Amino acid sequence: MRKCLRCNSEMIENIEIRTNEAIGISVGEKGIFKGSLGKLNASVCPECGYTETYLANTKKLEKLIK
Ligand SMILES: [Zn+2]
Repeated sequence: MRKCLRCNSEMIENIEIRTNEAIGISVGEKGIFKGSLGKLNASVCPECGYTETYLANTKKLEKLIK
């Protein structure tokens, strides 16, 4: 369960991020992590609307750090 960093309310998780083309956003880091680290999901606070993003699956990241 994620709590809002702003108002400490319980957030709604695992919201799919869509662009205008209905394709999710992915993240990659230059240098050490080449290529995509995976899809981003979001959680939103129903009280204040604060929205945060996070990697949908951290397994690839965990492997790369080891
Ligand atoms: Zn909030």
